[in-house]
Parts: sequence; structure tokens; C-alpha cells
Amino acid sequence: MRYLPSLNPGYLTDLIDILAKIKAGPLFGPTLPPEAYTPINLSKENPELQGVELGDPKACQGYIDKVLNWNKATIAYGGYLEQRNLYSGNAAFETGEERRDVHLGVDYWTKAGTKVLTPLDGEIHSFKNNAVKGDYGPTIILKHTEDGFIFYSLYGHLSLESLTGLYVGKQFKKGEVLASLGTPEENVNYAPHLHFQLILNLHGKQGDYLGVCRKSEVQFYKNNCPDPNLLFSL
Ligand SMILES: [Zn+2]
Repeated sequence: MRYLPSLNPGYLTDLIDILAKIKAGPLFGPTLPPEAYTPINLSKENPELQGVELGDPKACQGYIDKVLNWNKATIAYGGYLEQRNLYSGNAAFETGEERRDVHLGVDYWTKAGTKVLTPLDGEIHSFKNNAVKGDYGPTIILKHTEDGFIFYSLYGHLSLESLTGLYVGKQFKKGEVLASLGTPEENVNYAPHLHFQLILNLHGKQGDYLGVCRKSEVQFYKNNCPDPNLLFSL
């Protein structure tokens, strides 16, 4: 078994090859057609976001609904390594001299209560309600083993109900319902969405891992959190 005690570039290259070959299942409704998904740009550079207070879940939802309606879609997705204004004004992101504003997962914006499916066979590594405003709210981390490689997937902004009945080591099969999306009250003040992140080394974390980093830290974190789009052919 190859395990990642610390970052190792060879391991990362091999794992990226494996991720690109894995046939992952969808994160949402197995019968949703590709047209149900539309990309969304929440970066600082998007001129449509001028004057939109993304940190306010209602304003953020207003923009998401616009994008969904324009594209006749039900799920708006994106955000890997996107630099965003979504977190400004939140103390948890403003510590130190450099704010954290680069997003390390992919977000899927859709209705609260939407079921989240397990994309790959895995087992519960850990779970926790990260209930501080601006954090993930209810969060699940799955551990996966593929071709002898171990890696993790993190699911944030879930419903509270998603954590009931879980235990460390509980097995989930690809395609099985893992969780459902939380409301802004449960997911600690965001428009409903799934934060999905791949992680190679959890650095000892349980039920939590950094999902937004400083720009100066991007190289380090992108090596530890490969692009989730590798798994999905959207
Ligand atoms: Zn996110």
C-alpha cells in the first residue's frame, strides 16, 4: 500500500493518472442529462458580479438563479482555484496579512435537500459539523483506495440529517446516497451548494480540511488537492 506521509511529486503524478482513468459516478441524480449542469463564474474578475454581495446568501442565490435560468439548468458548478470575493468581510478568512480567497474545491449550486451520491466506493474517514459561520457546516470525508493509492474526498455544506447514522469505517458504494444539501441555516450562511474537494494528505485533520487558501499558498494546496474535474467529464 502506498500512503502519502508528505507531499511527493511522483505520487501526485501517478495519482492524477489514476484519477483521470477512474470512471466516477455522478454526484447528483444518476439520470440528470449533461445539459442540467452549467458552469458558473464566481471569480473577482466576473463583471456581472459588480455590486453583487456574494457573502449574502440571498444575493448569491439571486445570481445563481439567473445563471441557472439563462442556461435552463438545475446545477451550476465551478470554482476550482477561483479567486473570489465571496469571503470578504468574514473574520475567519481575514486573519493575518493576506486574506484567504482562493477556492480549492468545486462547488455545485442547487436546491437544499438535493441528494448527493457517492462518486466512488469509499468509507467514512471522519465527519463533523463545522458550525462556525462561514465554515462548511455539516461535513463528510470519505477515504478511497484505488490501485493501491489512498486519497480522500470532502463533502461540505450538507444537511444536519446527513451526519446521522454515520460511523468511521462505514462503507459506501459508488452511486449510493451519501448525504443531502443543507439550507443556509444548516450550511452556515451560504446559498445551498455542495463543496467537493479531493485531498491527498489530510495533515491529521478530522471532518475538516482547508477549502479556501491564500494566493501565496496555491502551489502547495493545488498539489495536495487535485482538480476534481479530473473525475467527472463535465
Ligand atoms: Zn466551496
